[in-house]
Amino acid sequence: AEEDFRRRTPQSADALTRASRVLPGGNTRSSLWTAPYPLSITGGEGCRITDADGHTYFDFLGEFTAGIYGHTCPSLEQAVTAAHRAGFGLSSHTPYEVALAEELAARFPSIDLLRFTNSGTEANLMALTAARLVTGRKRIVVFAGGYHGGVLTFGNGNAPVNVPFDFAVLPYNDAEAAAREFAASGDRIAAVLVEPMQGAGGCVVGSAEFLQTLRDLCDDSGAWLIFDEVQTARMAPGGAQERLGITPDMTTLGKIFGGGLAFGAFGGRQSVMARFDPAHPDPIPHAGTFNNNRLTMAAGLEAVRNHLTPEALAALYERGEAFRAALNERFAANGGAFHVTGMGSIMNIHGKGEDAALRLDRLRLLHFRMMERGYYFAARGLIALSFPVGETEMTGFLDALDAVLIAGR
Ligand code: PMP
Repeated sequence: AEEDFRRRTPQSADALTRASRVLPGGNTRSSLWTAPYPLSITGGEGCRITDADGHTYFDFLGEFTAGIYGHTCPSLEQAVTAAHRAGFGLSSHTPYEVALAEELAARFPSIDLLRFTNSGTEANLMALTAARLVTGRKRIVVFAGGYHGGVLTFGNGNAPVNVPFDFAVLPYNDAEAAAREFAASGDRIAAVLVEPMQGAGGCVVGSAEFLQTLRDLCDDSGAWLIFDEVQTARMAPGGAQERLGITPDMTTLGKIFGGGLAFGAFGGRQSVMARFDPAHPDPIPHAGTFNNNRLTMAAGLEAVRNHLTPEALAALYERGEAFRAALNERFAANGGAFHVTGMGSIMNIHGKGEDAALRLDRLRLLHFRMMERGYYFAARGLIALSFPVGETEMTGFLDALDAVLIAGR
C-alpha cells in the first residue's frame, strides 16, 4: 500500500524534499508528520480537498477538529475581509473582542470573564499560571494520554521537563488514583487540568463518575478544576461541561472559535479572573500582540453567531453519534479488526488485538486504502466531522470502508 501511495503522490514527496531544506523534517507542525511523508494538500472547497498531484478527497479530518466550517465559507470570508478593510493593527481594543467575549461568557456555565490568546497551548499555559499564582500552590494534576499543547503533552505518561510546573501524571478515568493523589498531597495541588474527552490521546471519553470525582476533590482541597475544552467545546453550546452538568473553575478554549483563524481563550469566575485586571493591585501580566487580533475576533464572532448555533451543534453531535455507530457496525461485520471511540462528531479508529505493532500496521493500511478511494482522515485514526460533511459523504465513506475491508480479507 505504501508503494501505491508513493506512486500516486510524487508531488507530495517533492514538496517535503523542498520543505526539508528550510524546515526541520520539512515540518513546522509536528502533528502533520506521517510516514513515509504527509500528503501535500493544496486546496479545498466545502468538505473536499485536493492534493498536489490533483487527487481529490472527502475530508473527514477537518483540520484536527479546528476545521468545523469546511474549507470555504462565504460569511467567514466576508467577516475577515470587512475587518481587514476597516483597518487592522490599530494598537487598540476592538468592538469584536467584546462581542465575542459576551457570546462565549453567555454560553459557558463556568465563564464570567475571559481572555483571548493565539492558541489552545497558550490558553492552557495561562490557566496553569493563574492557578499557581492565585492558589499559591505548585502542583498540577494531569493525566497520561492528555494533550494540552505541544509543550503540555503527556502522551507517554511522562511530564515534560521543559515547563516550570510540578506535574503529577495520573491514569485517566481512574477516580481512585486521583483520590489517592489528593489524600497524599491535596494541600499542594493548585489545579487539575483535564480534557472531558482525551482528543489526541485517541478520543477516550472521560466517565461522568471520574470527572465528578475530580470536581469533588477540587472542592474539598481548594484546587482548581480546569477543563480543557479546546476540542470538546463543539459538543454543545456550553461545551462538554454543559452535557456533563459539571462546572469547572476555569475553561480553556481554542480551535473552532477563531472561525478558522488562530485562536485560544481561557476564562472562569469573576473572582478567579480578577487578577488579570491590569488595575488589580497584584495583576497577572498577560500581554500578547495578537490576543485581540481583529481578523480572528471578527471571524470568531461571525462563527459563533451564525454557524455555531445551538441547532447546528446539536445536529452535528447527533450526526457524529450515528456515524460512529455505523462505523462500529461495519467494522464488527467485517472481521472486527477495528473499533471506534469518541463523542459526537469527533472520533478515533483503533486497531484491535493484543499486538500493538500489528494494530498500527492495520490502521496504516486502512488509512492508505481509504485515501486511494478518496476519503481522508488522520493516519492515527482521528476523524472530525465538519458542517459540510453530509449523508452522501458519510454513506460514501461507509461503502468505501466495506470495499476496503472485504478486499483485505
Ligand atoms: N488542548 C487540546 C485538547 C487540543 O486538542 C489542542 C490541539 N490539538 C490543544 C490544547 C492545543 O491547541 P493549539 O494547537 O491551538 O495550541
